[in-house]
Formats: sequence, structure tokens, C-alpha cells
Amino acid sequence: MSTNPIPDWRAKSNLLAIDARAFIHGQRVASLAGETFDVISPIDGKTIAQAARCRAEDVDAAVKSARTTFESGKWSQQAPAKRKRVMLKWAEKLLAAKDELALLETLDMGKPIKYSLGVDVQSAANCIAWYGEAIDKVYDEIAPTPHNALALIRREAMGVIGAIVPWNYPMLMSAWKLGPSIAAGNSIVLKPSEKSPLTAMRMAELAIEAGLPPGVFNVVPGFGHEAGEALALHMDVDAIGFTGSTRVGRKMLEYSGQSNLKRVFNELGGKSANLIFSDFDDLDRAAATAAGSMYFNQGESCNAPSRLFVQESIADSFIEKVVAQSKHYLPGDPLDNNTVLGALVDQGQQRTVMGYIEAGVAEGARLLAGGTAARQDTGGFYVNPTVFDGVNNTMKIAREEIFGPVLSIIRFKDEADAVAMANDSSYGLHAAVWSSNIDRAHRVAKALRAGTVHVNCYDEDDITVPFGGYKQSGNGRDKSLHALEKYTELKTTWIRLGR
Ligand code: NAD
Repeated sequence: MSTNPIPDWRAKSNLLAIDARAFIHGQRVASLAGETFDVISPIDGKTIAQAARCRAEDVDAAVKSARTTFESGKWSQQAPAKRKRVMLKWAEKLLAAKDELALLETLDMGKPIKYSLGVDVQSAANCIAWYGEAIDKVYDEIAPTPHNALALIRREAMGVIGAIVPWNYPMLMSAWKLGPSIAAGNSIVLKPSEKSPLTAMRMAELAIEAGLPPGVFNVVPGFGHEAGEALALHMDVDAIGFTGSTRVGRKMLEYSGQSNLKRVFNELGGKSANLIFSDFDDLDRAAATAAGSMYFNQGESCNAPSRLFVQESIADSFIEKVVAQSKHYLPGDPLDNNTVLGALVDQGQQRTVMGYIEAGVAEGARLLAGGTAARQDTGGFYVNPTVFDGVNNTMKIAREEIFGPVLSIIRFKDEADAVAMANDSSYGLHAAVWSSNIDRAHRVAKALRAGTVHVNCYDEDDITVPFGGYKQSGNGRDKSLHALEKYTELKTTWIRLGR
């Protein structure tokens, strides 16, 4: 019996030829001004590529390509079954290129290679395949009108979609926009984060190889205030699918108001509450999950359970378990197959996280673990998993999204106290309740103001289930059939049946 050898990722990375030019109308292109920016790997702080620095004129070329292709009907008027076949082939090509894509993702933004490979590439390919599979199975409606008329209620592709995505799951956040919008027949212009532009262009190349017509999927790498702003202000973009910070999400709404009132779907930040009640019968599992979900992706997850609420009667022993668990998440080389916590995306993010740790100490929270930078000899940007006890819900580390491996623990007396504090946040993305009392689990799940509530688990995930937030965590929903609603217009056609 043969076993697959474990890849030597460092050796593979030395052989990698990285092309970071834009992708417009089916081709790799330099920016029109010929400008580039450095792509720096957070693993060691070294420059690994020069990406095209797209500005308004490049965005304009990409939008024109998207619009012309949409109007041509080459994709938008294809039978859904034909679109399905292309998307399934595209997903196969993503999987066939999984090593290369995973390596690019890890080099670009620092996450451990085993997760780039096993989570990001797999989930992105699954997302493209799932929307391809779905699109020839969704039906429109006929309204129950009086007998002398017929009203068809149909969903039509919108036209040109602008997608602006963050750096924490570059492929996956892109796939969550690409899957539903392209399956529905739209053309798309994707602006990846300037901190992680590499995989987007490879995804586009593979789409062309799979048979997607040129112009359906364009990529304009560049900075937010240049390419991003130009895309969101563009008069010929019909909708923006944005994932990123609440601060920039606000700007998206302004850009829409300043331009053509394009639809804006915001998927924004979080400060998710994880509630542990003393009546839960497996506190070891709850502690392992509290730490594992917090430190996954270096804590750079919008839905990280970064506020851990623990009932006073079990607090000391439970917190001890969480601190012990956090020791399993020491930062390592992201290219090592055994690493579970990698580098933060860049030096700026490392400084931000260290700043929050200082603020926690200054406000009087008790540092129980971590609190320091790590692996400084590598030249990369690492922070040790950090646990604060004695946090109260008004402290900066309880109110603001840190986006790093920092857990804030808040003790509570009873259910009412826990729910009130959990809901006292400007965010409402995810939440969790751990209790063996079925009444309490349902009651609390209902009372928590969040787009997703987990009961006795965290990070359950499936493409069939919507993902998105309440309050300032956003207004759209990615994933599931509901995401198709964002990228289609609802049209009614009345037909008079005789006189
Ligand atoms: P960010 O808001 O700084 O940037 C996101 C994207 O917007 C990037 O491509 C950036 O270049 C672009 N951008 C920045 N300024 C812009 C401007 N003025 N005009 C147009 N575009 C602009 O966010 P980030 O730091 O890349 O990502 C982290 C954030 O994303 C966190 O808040 C996290 O919670 C959130 N996030 C949310 C979800 C979700 O599904 N709700 C998922 C992942 C990440």
C-alpha cells in the first residue's frame, strides 16, 4: 500500500513562479499606469511578488469588460444547466491546483498550510460547485392572482457585481461572492485585499480554463482607497458585495449614495459572545472549543468567539482549562504541516493586536497567558495566544474587534446577566450558549441578537446555511440559496388572459 509523501512546502515555495498581474477580460494584464505594489509575506517579512496596482482607469476597463460580456448574453443567457457544467469543471480545476493555491494563500497571509489546504481551498471549491449544482434546480413563482391574469415573479441576474473582500480568508470570501453571483448569470469585478491578492487571479485563470467566457470574472488588485473606492463609486456597477470592517462598510453605503444607489450588501466585523453555564455537562469540551475557535486563523475570524462569558460558580476551574488549552496554540512556521497557529497578516496587524493587549492591561484586566510577540527572529509577525480574565464588558478589549489571538473572559451571575451583557455590543454576528438544560438553551438562543447562534458547539459550518450578522455586523447573508437573492432582481410580469 502506498502512502502520499508529506509535501516539503518550503521547497515547493522556492519553485513557485508568482504572477500578480490583474486579470481583465480573460487575460493577465499590468495596470494601465504600469504601477505595482509589494506583496510581503508575513511568515518572514520578505517581499514575494509585485502586484498590479490598479486604479480607477483599470477598474473602468474591468467594468466595461464585465458589462459587455453581460450584455452579449454569452454567460447571462446560457441555460442554467450549461452554467452548472462550467462551474463544476471550475471547482475540479481549483481542487486539481490545491497545492499551489494553498501555498499562495499561506505565503500571502500567514495561515498554517494545513488549513489553507484542508479548509480554504476545499471550501472555496465546494462553494463554486454547490452554486453550480443549485442553479438548474431553483424555480421561480407564479402568484395566486384572479383567474383572468397571470403574474410571473422571476429572479433575473442584475448585471455587473463589484466584490470587495478582506484578507483573512481570501479565497473563501471571494468564493462566497463568486459562487452565487456567477451562477445567477452576472459578471463580476473582484477587488481582493492589498494584503492578500494572489489567489484571486489564479482562481480567475482556472475559471477561464473551465470554460467561463472572458469578462465574466475580472480581478483588480490594488488598494482600498484607489481600486476599491473606484469600484464602489462606479456608475455602471449594479451591486457591491462587501466583506470587511464595519468602518469601511459604512463607506460602501456612502459611495452608493454618492453614485448610482447600487445595492450594497455588507458582511462586517464581530465581537461574538460565547456563554458557558454551570449546568453544561462536558466543560472540558466547552473549554477546548472556546480556545480552538478563538485561535483558529490566528484569531483573525469575523466570527471568533472573542468574548467568553463564564458563570461565576464554575469560573475558576473553567478558566484554568481554557488557559491549559491555549498552550496548544503556540505560533509555528506556517509552512510546517504541524503548525496550528501561524503569522498575523502584517506588521500593522501585529501592532494593532499588541496595542489592544496593552490597553487590556492598562484597564485592569488580568493577563493569564500570552501577551507577547513570538518568533521575532524569523522577521515575521506572530503573537502568542493571549487570555485575559477579570474583563468587564465596558473595557476596550470587550467592545472592539481585535482580530488577533486575544480572548477576553467576563464572569456572569445568572442567565439574565449573561444575555444582557452578550447583547450589549454594537456587533451581532455569532454567539453560543453551552447548557445541558434544553429550556435554557432554547431561551438563550432566542434571546441572543446574532445572525448565528450555536448551542453546545461553535464553528459549525456548511455551505447550505446562511452566514451574516445583525446590527453593525452587516445586512447581507452569504452562503445558502439566500445569497442568490443578493445578486438577482425580482421582476414581476403581468399577463392579461383575455378581456
Ligand atoms: P477592511 O475593511 O480594512 O478591508 C476590506 C476590503 O475593503 C479590502 O479589500 C480593502 O482594500 C477594501 N477597502 C478598504 N478601504 C476601502 C475604501 N475606502 N473603499 C473601498 N474599499 C476599501 O477589512 P480587512 O482588514 O481586510 O478585514 C477584516 C475585517 O473583515 C474584520 O472586521 C472582519 O470581521 C471582517 N470580516 C467579516 C466577515 C463576515 O462574513 N461578516 C468575514 C470575514 C471578515
